[in-house]
Amino acid sequence: MGQLLSTFTAFFPKSISYLRTMSAVKEFDYLVIGGGSGGIASARRAREFNVSVALIENQRLGGTCVNVGCVPKKVMYNTALHAEFIRDHADYGFDVKYNGFSWPKVKATRDAYIKRLNGLYESGLTGSKVELIRGLASFDSDGTVVVNGQKYKGKNTLIAVGGTPTIPTDVPGANLGIDSDGFFELEDLPKKTVVVGAGYIALEIAGVLAELGSETHMLIRYEQVLRTFDHTISEVATEFVDKGPIKLHKKTHVKSVEKNANGTLKVTTQEGQVIDDVNTLIWAIGRTPLSARLNLDKVGVKTDSAGHIIVDEYQQTNVPGILSLGDVCGKFLLTPVAIAAGRRLSHRLFNGETENRLEYKNIATVVFSHPPVGVVGLTEKEAVAKYGKDNVLIYKSKFNPLYFAMTTYKEPCTMKLITAGPEEKVVGIHMIGQGVDEMLQGFAVAVTLGGTKKDFDRTVAIHPTGAEELVTMRGGVKSQL
Ligand SMILES: Cc1cc2nc3c(=O)[nH]c(=O)nc-3n(C[C@H](O)[C@H](O)[C@H](O)COP(=O)(O)OP(=O)(O)OC[C@H]3O[C@@H](n4cnc5c(N)ncnc54)[C@H](O)[C@@H]3O)c2cc1C
Repeated sequence: MGQLLSTFTAFFPKSISYLRTMSAVKEFDYLVIGGGSGGIASARRAREFNVSVALIENQRLGGTCVNVGCVPKKVMYNTALHAEFIRDHADYGFDVKYNGFSWPKVKATRDAYIKRLNGLYESGLTGSKVELIRGLASFDSDGTVVVNGQKYKGKNTLIAVGGTPTIPTDVPGANLGIDSDGFFELEDLPKKTVVVGAGYIALEIAGVLAELGSETHMLIRYEQVLRTFDHTISEVATEFVDKGPIKLHKKTHVKSVEKNANGTLKVTTQEGQVIDDVNTLIWAIGRTPLSARLNLDKVGVKTDSAGHIIVDEYQQTNVPGILSLGDVCGKFLLTPVAIAAGRRLSHRLFNGETENRLEYKNIATVVFSHPPVGVVGLTEKEAVAKYGKDNVLIYKSKFNPLYFAMTTYKEPCTMKLITAGPEEKVVGIHMIGQGVDEMLQGFAVAVTLGGTKKDFDRTVAIHPTGAEELVTMRGGVKSQL
Protein backbone atom coordinates (compact mmCIF):
# COMPACT_ATOMS: atom_id res chain seq x y z
CA MET A 1 0.00 0.00 0.00
CA GLY A 2 2.82 2.33 1.05
CA GLN A 3 4.60 1.47 -2.20
CA LEU A 4 1.42 2.28 -4.13
CA LEU A 5 1.00 5.63 -2.36
CA SER A 6 4.58 6.73 -2.98
CA THR A 7 4.27 5.78 -6.65
CA PHE A 8 1.01 7.80 -6.84
CA THR A 9 2.66 10.69 -4.99
CA ALA A 10 5.59 10.64 -7.37
CA PHE A 11 3.28 10.94 -10.37
CA PHE A 12 0.58 13.16 -8.88
CA PRO A 13 2.26 15.22 -6.11
CA LYS A 14 -0.26 18.06 -6.40
CA SER A 15 -3.32 15.78 -6.10
CA ILE A 16 -1.99 14.15 -2.96
CA SER A 17 -1.21 17.40 -1.20
CA TYR A 18 -4.66 18.65 -2.26
CA LEU A 19 -6.31 15.55 -0.77
CA ARG A 20 -4.28 15.94 2.44
CA THR A 21 -5.30 19.61 2.79
CA MET A 22 -8.93 18.77 2.08
CA SER A 23 -9.08 16.05 4.67
CA ALA A 24 -7.33 17.94 7.49
CA VAL A 25 -9.71 19.93 9.65
CA LYS A 26 -8.74 23.60 9.56
CA GLU A 27 -8.97 25.11 13.02
CA PHE A 28 -9.58 28.68 14.11
CA ASP A 29 -10.19 30.43 17.41
CA TYR A 30 -13.31 31.95 15.89
CA LEU A 31 -15.30 30.59 12.98
CA VAL A 32 -18.02 32.90 11.73
CA ILE A 33 -20.81 31.65 9.45
CA GLY A 34 -22.34 34.54 7.53
CA GLY A 35 -20.69 37.61 6.04
CA GLY A 36 -23.49 40.06 6.72
CA SER A 37 -23.82 42.91 9.23
CA GLY A 38 -23.34 40.84 12.39
CA GLY A 39 -20.81 38.31 11.12
CA ILE A 40 -18.41 40.81 9.56
CA ALA A 41 -18.55 43.16 12.56
CA SER A 42 -17.89 40.36 15.02
CA ALA A 43 -15.12 38.77 12.94
CA ARG A 44 -13.22 42.00 12.45
CA ARG A 45 -13.55 43.01 16.10
CA ALA A 46 -12.28 39.58 17.18
CA ARG A 47 -9.13 40.07 15.07
CA GLU A 48 -8.35 43.18 17.14
CA PHE A 49 -7.75 40.76 20.02
CA ASN A 50 -5.26 38.74 17.96
CA VAL A 51 -7.17 35.51 17.65
CA SER A 52 -7.37 33.52 14.42
CA VAL A 53 -10.64 34.16 12.61
CA ALA A 54 -12.30 32.74 9.49
CA LEU A 55 -15.58 33.90 7.96
CA ILE A 56 -17.76 31.83 5.64
CA GLU A 57 -20.06 33.49 3.09
CA ASN A 58 -21.90 31.90 0.21
CA GLN A 59 -23.19 35.03 -1.48
CA ARG A 60 -22.20 38.68 -1.80
CA LEU A 61 -20.33 40.14 1.18
CA GLY A 62 -22.26 42.59 3.30
CA GLY A 63 -25.38 40.43 3.64
CA THR A 64 -28.95 41.64 3.47
CA CYS A 65 -28.36 45.25 4.50
CA VAL A 66 -25.80 46.06 1.84
CA ASN A 67 -27.19 44.02 -1.04
CA VAL A 68 -30.96 43.75 -0.67
CA GLY A 69 -31.85 45.80 2.40
CA CYS A 70 -31.03 49.11 4.05
CA VAL A 71 -28.61 50.46 1.45
CA PRO A 72 -30.48 49.95 -1.86
CA LYS A 73 -33.73 50.67 -0.01
CA LYS A 74 -32.47 54.05 1.20
CA VAL A 75 -31.28 54.89 -2.31
CA MET A 76 -34.78 54.19 -3.60
CA TYR A 77 -36.32 56.19 -0.74
CA ASN A 78 -34.10 59.14 -1.62
CA THR A 79 -35.14 58.71 -5.25
CA ALA A 80 -38.80 58.90 -4.23
CA LEU A 81 -38.09 62.01 -2.11
CA HIS A 82 -37.18 63.79 -5.34
CA ALA A 83 -40.66 63.04 -6.65
CA GLU A 84 -42.06 64.72 -3.54
CA PHE A 85 -39.91 67.79 -4.01
CA ILE A 86 -40.95 68.00 -7.66
CA ARG A 87 -44.57 68.01 -6.44
CA ASP A 88 -43.78 71.14 -4.37
CA HIS A 89 -41.50 72.92 -6.83
CA ALA A 90 -44.20 75.24 -8.21
CA ASP A 91 -45.29 76.30 -4.70
CA TYR A 92 -41.73 77.38 -4.04
CA GLY A 93 -41.64 79.40 -7.25
CA PHE A 94 -39.73 77.02 -9.47
CA ASP A 95 -41.03 76.71 -13.00
CA VAL A 96 -39.41 73.35 -13.81
CA LYS A 97 -40.56 71.14 -16.63
CA TYR A 98 -40.68 67.47 -15.66
CA ASN A 99 -39.43 65.28 -18.47
CA GLY A 100 -39.69 61.88 -16.89
CA PHE A 101 -37.82 59.54 -14.62
CA SER A 102 -35.35 56.78 -15.50
CA TRP A 103 -35.41 53.79 -13.16
CA PRO A 104 -32.62 52.03 -15.14
CA LYS A 105 -30.36 55.06 -14.58
CA VAL A 106 -30.87 54.95 -10.80
CA LYS A 107 -30.54 51.17 -10.70
CA ALA A 108 -27.24 51.22 -12.59
CA THR A 109 -25.74 53.84 -10.24
CA ARG A 110 -27.11 52.01 -7.20
CA ASP A 111 -25.77 48.62 -8.34
CA ALA A 112 -22.35 50.12 -9.02
CA TYR A 113 -22.29 51.66 -5.54
CA ILE A 114 -23.20 48.33 -3.94
CA LYS A 115 -20.53 46.54 -5.95
CA ARG A 116 -18.03 49.04 -4.55
CA LEU A 117 -19.27 48.29 -1.04
CA ASN A 118 -18.88 44.53 -1.64
CA GLY A 119 -15.26 45.20 -2.57
CA LEU A 120 -14.74 47.41 0.48
CA TYR A 121 -16.07 44.66 2.75
CA GLU A 122 -13.70 42.17 1.17
CA SER A 123 -10.69 44.47 1.53
CA GLY A 124 -11.77 45.20 5.12
CA LEU A 125 -11.66 41.50 5.91
CA THR A 126 -8.33 41.04 4.15
CA GLY A 127 -6.93 44.08 5.96
CA SER A 128 -8.03 42.64 9.29
CA LYS A 129 -6.53 39.25 8.33
CA VAL A 130 -9.82 37.42 8.58
CA GLU A 131 -9.64 34.32 6.36
CA LEU A 132 -12.54 34.44 3.91
CA ILE A 133 -14.05 31.11 2.94
CA ARG A 134 -16.49 31.15 0.02
CA GLY A 135 -19.31 28.62 0.06
CA LEU A 136 -22.36 27.31 1.87
CA ALA A 137 -21.68 26.14 5.42
CA SER A 138 -23.39 23.33 7.30
CA PHE A 139 -22.60 21.40 10.46
CA ASP A 140 -21.41 17.80 10.60
CA SER A 141 -22.13 15.46 13.48
CA ASP A 142 -18.50 15.65 14.67
CA GLY A 143 -19.07 19.34 15.41
CA THR A 144 -17.12 20.60 12.41
CA VAL A 145 -18.46 23.00 9.80
CA VAL A 146 -18.27 21.78 6.22
CA VAL A 147 -17.84 24.04 3.20
CA ASN A 148 -17.33 22.54 -0.27
CA GLY A 149 -16.18 19.27 1.33
CA GLN A 150 -13.55 20.94 3.52
CA LYS A 151 -13.99 20.70 7.29
CA TYR A 152 -13.45 23.64 9.63
CA LYS A 153 -13.54 23.85 13.39
CA GLY A 154 -13.83 26.89 15.61
CA LYS A 155 -13.05 27.00 19.33
CA ASN A 156 -16.03 29.30 19.16
CA THR A 157 -18.40 29.25 16.20
CA LEU A 158 -20.80 32.11 15.45
CA ILE A 159 -23.94 31.58 13.42
CA ALA A 160 -24.98 34.89 11.82
CA VAL A 161 -26.75 33.67 8.69
CA GLY A 162 -29.66 36.11 8.66
CA GLY A 163 -32.93 35.42 6.90
CA THR A 164 -34.74 35.45 3.60
CA PRO A 165 -38.12 36.85 2.50
CA THR A 166 -41.09 34.57 3.04
CA ILE A 167 -43.31 33.57 0.10
CA PRO A 168 -46.62 31.93 1.04
CA THR A 169 -46.87 28.23 0.33
CA ASP A 170 -50.66 28.05 0.53
CA VAL A 171 -51.57 30.53 -2.23
CA PRO A 172 -51.84 29.02 -5.73
CA GLY A 173 -49.59 30.96 -8.09
CA ALA A 174 -47.72 32.73 -5.27
CA ASN A 175 -44.44 32.02 -7.04
CA LEU A 176 -45.50 34.29 -9.89
CA GLY A 177 -44.75 37.12 -7.48
CA ILE A 178 -41.37 38.38 -6.31
CA ASP A 179 -40.08 39.45 -2.88
CA SER A 180 -38.02 42.35 -1.55
CA ASP A 181 -34.86 40.78 -3.04
CA GLY A 182 -36.63 40.73 -6.42
CA PHE A 183 -37.70 44.35 -5.98
CA PHE A 184 -34.04 45.35 -6.13
CA GLU A 185 -33.62 43.38 -9.36
CA LEU A 186 -36.47 45.13 -11.19
CA GLU A 187 -35.08 46.61 -14.39
CA ASP A 188 -37.82 49.20 -14.71
CA LEU A 189 -40.65 50.81 -12.77
CA PRO A 190 -43.69 48.52 -13.04
CA LYS A 191 -46.78 50.20 -14.42
CA LYS A 192 -49.05 48.48 -11.91
CA THR A 193 -47.89 46.80 -8.71
CA VAL A 194 -49.46 44.84 -5.88
CA VAL A 195 -47.56 44.82 -2.59
CA VAL A 196 -48.80 42.31 -0.01
CA GLY A 197 -47.93 43.02 3.62
CA ALA A 198 -48.39 45.64 6.33
CA GLY A 199 -44.96 45.76 7.94
CA TYR A 200 -42.22 48.29 7.42
CA ILE A 201 -40.69 46.62 4.36
CA ALA A 202 -44.08 46.49 2.60
CA LEU A 203 -44.76 50.13 3.46
CA GLU A 204 -41.35 51.31 2.32
CA ILE A 205 -41.47 49.45 -1.00
CA ALA A 206 -45.07 50.48 -1.73
CA GLY A 207 -44.15 54.08 -0.87
CA VAL A 208 -41.23 54.16 -3.30
CA LEU A 209 -43.24 52.63 -6.15
CA ALA A 210 -46.26 54.85 -5.61
CA GLU A 211 -44.25 58.08 -5.29
CA LEU A 212 -42.39 57.22 -8.50
CA GLY A 213 -45.62 56.72 -10.39
CA SER A 214 -46.46 53.01 -10.35
CA GLU A 215 -50.14 52.32 -9.72
CA THR A 216 -49.54 50.67 -6.37
CA HIS A 217 -52.06 48.51 -4.52
CA MET A 218 -51.24 47.51 -0.97
CA LEU A 219 -53.06 44.49 0.43
CA ILE A 220 -53.16 44.16 4.21
CA ARG A 221 -54.86 41.50 6.34
CA TYR A 222 -56.15 43.84 9.04
CA GLU A 223 -57.24 47.49 9.32
CA GLN A 224 -53.83 49.09 9.80
CA VAL A 225 -50.24 49.12 8.67
CA LEU A 226 -47.30 48.91 11.14
CA ARG A 227 -49.45 47.06 13.65
CA THR A 228 -46.54 46.23 15.96
CA PHE A 229 -45.77 49.94 16.46
CA ASP A 230 -47.35 52.32 19.00
CA HIS A 231 -51.06 52.60 18.16
CA THR A 232 -50.77 56.32 17.36
CA ILE A 233 -48.09 55.63 14.74
CA SER A 234 -50.09 52.77 13.32
CA GLU A 235 -53.22 54.95 13.06
CA VAL A 236 -51.50 57.97 11.56
CA ALA A 237 -49.38 55.93 9.13
CA THR A 238 -52.55 54.18 7.91
CA GLU A 239 -54.27 57.57 7.42
CA PHE A 240 -51.33 58.73 5.30
CA VAL A 241 -51.48 55.59 3.18
CA ASP A 242 -55.25 56.00 2.80
CA LYS A 243 -54.88 59.60 1.61
CA GLY A 244 -51.73 59.16 -0.48
CA PRO A 245 -50.98 57.64 -3.85
CA ILE A 246 -51.03 54.02 -2.56
CA LYS A 247 -54.36 52.23 -3.03
CA LEU A 248 -54.90 50.48 0.29
CA HIS A 249 -57.03 47.32 0.44
CA LYS A 250 -57.79 46.52 4.07
CA LYS A 251 -58.82 43.15 5.47
CA THR A 252 -57.79 41.25 2.38
CA HIS A 253 -56.20 37.83 1.98
CA VAL A 254 -54.77 36.77 -1.36
CA LYS A 255 -56.58 33.68 -2.64
CA SER A 256 -54.78 33.08 -5.92
CA VAL A 257 -52.44 34.53 -8.49
CA GLU A 258 -52.81 33.72 -12.18
CA LYS A 259 -50.81 34.67 -15.24
CA ASN A 260 -52.65 36.33 -18.11
CA ALA A 261 -51.85 35.57 -21.76
CA ASN A 262 -50.03 38.92 -22.05
CA GLY A 263 -47.77 38.09 -19.09
CA THR A 264 -49.50 40.32 -16.54
CA LEU A 265 -50.93 38.88 -13.33
CA LYS A 266 -54.42 38.58 -11.92
CA VAL A 267 -54.55 38.73 -8.12
CA THR A 268 -57.77 37.50 -6.52
CA THR A 269 -58.55 37.89 -2.84
CA GLN A 270 -60.62 35.65 -0.59
CA GLU A 271 -62.92 38.65 -0.14
CA GLY A 272 -63.74 38.64 -3.86
CA GLN A 273 -61.58 41.51 -5.13
CA VAL A 274 -59.77 41.06 -8.43
CA ILE A 275 -56.77 43.21 -9.25
CA ASP A 276 -55.96 42.51 -12.87
CA ASP A 277 -53.23 43.51 -15.33
CA VAL A 278 -50.66 43.62 -12.56
CA ASN A 279 -47.10 43.92 -13.82
CA THR A 280 -45.41 43.03 -10.55
CA LEU A 281 -46.65 41.34 -7.40
CA ILE A 282 -44.38 41.76 -4.37
CA TRP A 283 -44.69 39.65 -1.23
CA ALA A 284 -43.50 41.48 1.86
CA ILE A 285 -45.11 39.34 4.53
CA GLY A 286 -42.17 38.55 6.77
CA ARG A 287 -38.79 36.86 6.82
CA THR A 288 -37.70 33.28 7.37
CA PRO A 289 -34.46 32.57 9.27
CA LEU A 290 -31.84 30.78 7.15
CA SER A 291 -31.20 28.10 9.77
CA ALA A 292 -32.66 25.02 8.04
CA ARG A 293 -29.74 24.32 5.70
CA LEU A 294 -27.17 24.48 8.52
CA ASN A 295 -27.99 20.90 9.69
CA LEU A 296 -28.29 22.19 13.24
CA ASP A 297 -29.78 18.89 14.36
CA LYS A 298 -26.36 17.26 13.81
CA VAL A 299 -24.93 19.33 16.66
CA GLY A 300 -28.14 19.74 18.65
CA VAL A 301 -28.55 23.55 18.42
CA LYS A 302 -32.13 24.39 19.34
CA THR A 303 -34.45 26.62 17.33
CA ASP A 304 -38.02 27.79 17.92
CA SER A 305 -40.86 26.55 15.73
CA ALA A 306 -40.17 29.27 13.14
CA GLY A 307 -36.49 28.25 12.86
CA HIS A 308 -35.03 31.15 14.88
CA ILE A 309 -31.96 30.08 16.81
CA ILE A 310 -32.59 30.25 20.55
CA VAL A 311 -29.90 32.16 22.45
CA ASP A 312 -29.54 33.55 25.94
CA GLU A 313 -28.77 37.20 26.70
CA TYR A 314 -25.10 36.55 25.89
CA GLN A 315 -25.88 35.21 22.37
CA GLN A 316 -25.06 31.68 23.61
CA THR A 317 -27.00 28.77 22.09
CA ASN A 318 -27.72 25.63 24.10
CA VAL A 319 -24.47 24.08 22.72
CA PRO A 320 -21.23 25.31 24.37
CA GLY A 321 -18.95 27.07 21.88
CA ILE A 322 -21.77 27.80 19.40
CA LEU A 323 -23.16 31.33 19.45
CA SER A 324 -25.67 33.14 17.32
CA LEU A 325 -26.97 36.66 16.66
CA GLY A 326 -28.69 38.93 14.19
CA ASP A 327 -31.77 38.21 12.12
CA VAL A 328 -31.48 34.43 12.48
CA CYS A 329 -32.35 34.88 16.17
CA GLY A 330 -35.51 36.80 15.25
CA LYS A 331 -35.16 39.71 17.69
CA PHE A 332 -34.92 43.34 16.46
CA LEU A 333 -34.13 42.61 12.81
CA LEU A 334 -31.90 45.62 12.31
CA THR A 335 -28.37 46.07 11.07
CA PRO A 336 -27.02 48.14 13.98
CA VAL A 337 -28.44 45.54 16.37
CA ALA A 338 -26.57 42.70 14.63
CA ILE A 339 -23.39 44.81 14.52
CA ALA A 340 -23.58 45.85 18.17
CA ALA A 341 -24.33 42.30 19.34
CA GLY A 342 -21.46 40.96 17.20
CA ARG A 343 -18.87 43.45 18.45
CA ARG A 344 -19.84 43.05 22.10
CA LEU A 345 -19.68 39.28 21.70
CA SER A 346 -16.09 39.47 20.48
CA HIS A 347 -15.15 41.64 23.44
CA ARG A 348 -16.71 39.07 25.75
CA LEU A 349 -15.15 36.03 24.10
CA PHE A 350 -11.68 37.30 23.35
CA ASN A 351 -10.98 40.27 25.61
CA GLY A 352 -12.09 38.93 28.96
CA GLU A 353 -15.10 41.28 29.21
CA THR A 354 -17.31 38.62 30.72
CA GLU A 355 -20.39 40.82 31.11
CA ASN A 356 -20.22 42.60 27.76
CA ARG A 357 -23.44 42.04 25.81
CA LEU A 358 -26.08 44.00 23.93
CA GLU A 359 -29.04 45.07 25.99
CA TYR A 360 -32.05 44.79 23.73
CA LYS A 361 -33.81 47.94 24.89
CA ASN A 362 -34.24 51.53 23.75
CA ILE A 363 -33.32 50.52 20.23
CA ALA A 364 -34.24 53.38 17.94
CA THR A 365 -35.70 52.55 14.57
CA VAL A 366 -36.90 54.42 11.51
CA VAL A 367 -39.35 53.44 8.81
CA PHE A 368 -38.53 55.16 5.54
CA SER A 369 -42.13 55.62 4.56
CA HIS A 370 -43.68 58.79 3.14
CA PRO A 371 -43.58 60.52 5.59
CA PRO A 372 -41.00 58.65 7.68
CA VAL A 373 -41.56 57.19 11.13
CA GLY A 374 -39.07 57.36 14.02
CA VAL A 375 -39.49 55.52 17.30
CA VAL A 376 -37.46 54.68 20.38
CA GLY A 377 -38.39 53.05 23.67
CA LEU A 378 -41.70 51.73 24.89
CA THR A 379 -45.05 52.02 23.15
CA GLU A 380 -47.90 53.47 25.20
CA LYS A 381 -49.29 49.96 25.69
CA GLU A 382 -45.92 48.63 26.88
CA ALA A 383 -45.42 51.61 29.21
CA VAL A 384 -48.85 51.09 30.79
CA ALA A 385 -48.15 47.37 31.21
CA LYS A 386 -44.76 48.09 32.80
CA TYR A 387 -45.49 51.11 35.01
CA GLY A 388 -49.28 51.01 35.49
CA LYS A 389 -51.80 53.37 33.96
CA ASP A 390 -51.59 55.93 36.79
CA ASN A 391 -47.84 56.29 36.40
CA VAL A 392 -47.76 57.05 32.69
CA LEU A 393 -48.23 60.49 31.13
CA ILE A 394 -48.64 61.06 27.41
CA TYR A 395 -47.64 64.25 25.62
CA LYS A 396 -48.87 64.57 22.07
CA SER A 397 -48.51 67.15 19.36
CA LYS A 398 -49.73 67.44 15.80
CA PHE A 399 -48.48 70.38 13.77
CA ASN A 400 -47.87 71.49 10.23
CA PRO A 401 -44.11 71.80 9.62
CA LEU A 402 -43.06 75.19 8.26
CA TYR A 403 -42.07 73.56 4.96
CA PHE A 404 -45.76 72.85 4.27
CA ALA A 405 -46.86 76.40 5.15
CA MET A 406 -45.79 77.22 1.60
CA THR A 407 -47.26 74.25 -0.21
CA THR A 408 -50.67 73.20 -1.41
CA TYR A 409 -49.88 69.68 -0.26
CA LYS A 410 -50.05 69.45 3.54
CA GLU A 411 -48.35 66.81 5.64
CA PRO A 412 -48.86 67.26 9.40
CA CYS A 413 -46.28 65.82 11.76
CA THR A 414 -47.37 63.84 14.83
CA MET A 415 -45.16 63.42 17.89
CA LYS A 416 -45.75 61.56 21.10
CA LEU A 417 -43.68 61.48 24.25
CA ILE A 418 -44.34 58.84 26.88
CA THR A 419 -43.16 59.48 30.43
CA ALA A 420 -43.23 57.24 33.48
CA GLY A 421 -43.11 57.73 37.23
CA PRO A 422 -43.17 60.87 39.39
CA GLU A 423 -39.86 62.06 37.90
CA GLU A 424 -41.46 61.72 34.42
CA LYS A 425 -38.67 59.71 32.85
CA VAL A 426 -39.04 59.72 29.07
CA VAL A 427 -39.53 56.04 28.21
CA GLY A 428 -40.83 56.34 24.66
CA ILE A 429 -40.75 58.71 21.68
CA HIS A 430 -42.90 58.07 18.62
CA MET A 431 -42.98 60.38 15.61
CA ILE A 432 -44.27 60.44 12.07
CA GLY A 433 -43.61 63.33 9.74
CA GLN A 434 -41.06 65.11 7.63
CA GLY A 435 -37.51 64.87 8.96
CA VAL A 436 -38.17 62.64 11.97
CA ASP A 437 -35.78 60.04 10.54
CA GLU A 438 -32.83 62.37 11.07
CA MET A 439 -34.25 63.81 14.30
CA LEU A 440 -34.42 60.59 16.22
CA GLN A 441 -30.80 59.60 16.88
CA GLY A 442 -30.02 62.46 19.28
CA PHE A 443 -33.24 61.95 21.21
CA ALA A 444 -32.43 58.24 21.44
CA VAL A 445 -29.27 59.26 23.32
CA ALA A 446 -31.40 61.27 25.75
CA VAL A 447 -33.70 58.28 26.34
CA THR A 448 -30.70 55.96 26.80
CA LEU A 449 -29.29 58.37 29.39
CA GLY A 450 -32.60 58.23 31.28
CA GLY A 451 -33.64 61.80 30.43
CA THR A 452 -36.75 63.18 32.14
CA LYS A 453 -39.42 65.54 30.86
CA LYS A 454 -37.71 68.26 32.94
CA ASP A 455 -34.43 67.61 31.09
CA PHE A 456 -36.28 67.97 27.80
CA ASP A 457 -38.00 71.17 29.04
CA ARG A 458 -34.75 72.84 30.10
CA THR A 459 -33.20 72.17 26.68
CA VAL A 460 -33.45 75.35 24.62
CA ALA A 461 -35.28 74.74 21.36
CA ILE A 462 -33.78 75.15 17.90
CA HIS A 463 -36.10 77.36 15.88
CA PRO A 464 -37.62 76.89 13.36
CA THR A 465 -37.37 73.11 13.25
CA GLY A 466 -39.75 70.22 13.74
CA ALA A 467 -37.49 68.84 16.46
CA GLU A 468 -38.14 71.81 18.76
CA GLU A 469 -41.61 70.42 19.35
CA LEU A 470 -40.08 67.60 21.41
CA VAL A 471 -38.61 70.04 23.94
CA THR A 472 -41.62 72.35 24.12
CA MET A 473 -44.52 69.96 24.71
CA ARG A 474 -46.94 70.76 27.52
CA GLY A 475 -50.04 69.27 29.10
CA GLY A 476 -49.35 65.58 29.62
CA VAL A 477 -52.46 63.42 29.99
CA LYS A 478 -53.01 60.03 31.51
CA SER A 479 -53.10 57.11 29.13
CA GLN A 480 -56.57 56.20 27.90
CA LEU A 481 -55.58 52.59 27.21
C1 LIG B 1 -35.79 45.35 2.37
C2 LIG B 1 -35.06 45.47 3.67
C3 LIG B 1 -34.79 46.71 4.17
C4 LIG B 1 -34.10 46.83 5.37
N1 LIG B 1 -33.85 48.08 5.86
C5 LIG B 1 -33.19 48.23 7.02
C6 LIG B 1 -32.89 49.52 7.53
O1 LIG B 1 -33.24 50.54 6.93
N2 LIG B 1 -32.21 49.62 8.67
C7 LIG B 1 -31.79 48.51 9.38
O2 LIG B 1 -31.17 48.65 10.42
N3 LIG B 1 -32.07 47.26 8.92
C8 LIG B 1 -32.75 47.10 7.77
N4 LIG B 1 -33.01 45.84 7.28
C9 LIG B 1 -32.63 44.68 8.11
C10 LIG B 1 -31.13 44.35 8.00
O3 LIG B 1 -30.79 44.20 6.65
C11 LIG B 1 -30.85 43.08 8.76
O4 LIG B 1 -31.34 43.22 10.08
C12 LIG B 1 -29.36 42.77 8.84
O5 LIG B 1 -28.81 42.63 7.57
C13 LIG B 1 -29.14 41.49 9.66
O6 LIG B 1 -27.80 41.16 9.72
P1 LIG B 1 -27.33 39.65 9.92
O7 LIG B 1 -25.85 39.69 10.08
O8 LIG B 1 -28.13 39.02 10.98
O9 LIG B 1 -27.75 38.89 8.58
P2 LIG B 1 -27.43 39.22 7.07
O10 LIG B 1 -26.99 40.61 6.88
O11 LIG B 1 -28.61 38.76 6.31
O12 LIG B 1 -26.17 38.31 6.74
C14 LIG B 1 -26.25 36.92 6.73
C15 LIG B 1 -25.25 36.41 5.71
O13 LIG B 1 -25.10 35.00 5.89
C16 LIG B 1 -24.98 34.38 4.62
N5 LIG B 1 -25.36 32.97 4.79
C17 LIG B 1 -26.59 32.48 5.05
N6 LIG B 1 -26.54 31.15 5.20
C18 LIG B 1 -25.24 30.80 5.01
C19 LIG B 1 -24.56 29.56 5.05
N7 LIG B 1 -25.19 28.43 5.36
N8 LIG B 1 -23.23 29.55 4.76
C20 LIG B 1 -22.57 30.70 4.48
N9 LIG B 1 -23.17 31.91 4.46
C21 LIG B 1 -24.48 31.95 4.73
C22 LIG B 1 -25.94 35.17 3.75
O14 LIG B 1 -25.60 35.04 2.38
C23 LIG B 1 -25.72 36.60 4.26
O15 LIG B 1 -24.73 37.27 3.54
C24 LIG B 1 -33.67 45.68 6.08
C25 LIG B 1 -33.93 44.41 5.56
C26 LIG B 1 -34.63 44.30 4.36
C27 LIG B 1 -34.90 42.93 3.82
